[in-house]
Amino acid sequence: MKRRTFIKNTTLSGTGIALGAAALGCTENKNTTTVNKDASLPLVIATWNVPNATEAAWHVLNKQGSSLDAIEQGCRVEEADVDNQSVGKGGRPDRDGKVTLDACIMDTAGNYGAVVCVQNIKHPISVARKVMEETPHVLMAGKGAEQFAIESGFKPENLLTEASKQQWEEWKKTSKYEPIINIENHDTIGMLAIDTNGNIAGGCTTSGLAYKMAGRVGDSPIIGSGLFIDNEIGGATATGMGEEVLKTVGSFLIVELMRQGKSPQQACEEGIRRIVAKGNYDNFQVAYIAMNKAGATGYYSIHPGFSATINKNGENMNHISNSHT
Ligand code: ASP
Repeated sequence: MKRRTFIKNTTLSGTGIALGAAALGCTENKNTTTVNKDASLPLVIATWNVPNATEAAWHVLNKQGSSLDAIEQGCRVEEADVDNQSVGKGGRPDRDGKVTLDACIMDTAGNYGAVVCVQNIKHPISVARKVMEETPHVLMAGKGAEQFAIESGFKPENLLTEASKQQWEEWKKTSKYEPIINIENHDTIGMLAIDTNGNIAGGCTTSGLAYKMAGRVGDSPIIGSGLFIDNEIGGATATGMGEEVLKTVGSFLIVELMRQGKSPQQACEEGIRRIVAKGNYDNFQVAYIAMNKAGATGYYSIHPGFSATINKNGENMNHISNSHT
């Protein structure tokens, strides 16, 4: 089957600003990073321009809340936003018209919880957290995940908004039922937070690729691909064409590169290089963000058009990412 991929998003083209790799109040050597408690922590970074989400996370962090709580609260903002058609309620459906959501979360102890292909539940990030904290499992799928969510008190609801339904009906007219990557909006929320104690957690939530085949799952809920946290080192998360992130186990790779001494920025760039080294990347986008134990951040994408939002000291800044092309 022909796999159509992301079309280069050129709306934010330009070289952008290189920011984010500055270490904050820390000493680093090849194997260890010592956090200086005076460093300007906490902070949160998320994929795309999501100031409401990073602000919600910031509010938790600012009240000495945990990075895990910050991640859940931040991700929930985008999941509830029906105008964000790549996440949660209002997400674009699969080619059969069903909205199926994927999410995962990792805490500072390296625990992981995830749900894949779950329908009718607006907040998969919270279900993922419950899987992590209240079951002996780490990953639940489809009907079973939905049943678990309902038993845990989540209310089932229709996630297909009129706007997403109409766009899907338009798509059907010309698509020949061929699954495509969600071209216009590819704004899976990947979020990393470090709290005042210097502890890192992360989350990733998405409706996946618009008009995908029923049952398709991307990188976002898969540990090591869409998200990886090692609280000794740092964290990384991804957005974009999940198949490519999965094949390179991108987020785990980036954390391991940081373990070997690379800055978050250098590690994100190497993660992207592993994808572009295979060639044929003209028509899809992948982007990574990363954070280390000192609160230094990095972000990089294959093509222009990606940005990351950082909230530090209560102020949101949207950073246009540098890119390979
Ligand atoms: N990474 C997501 C997936 O492959 C898509 C996206 O970021 O929009 O499911």
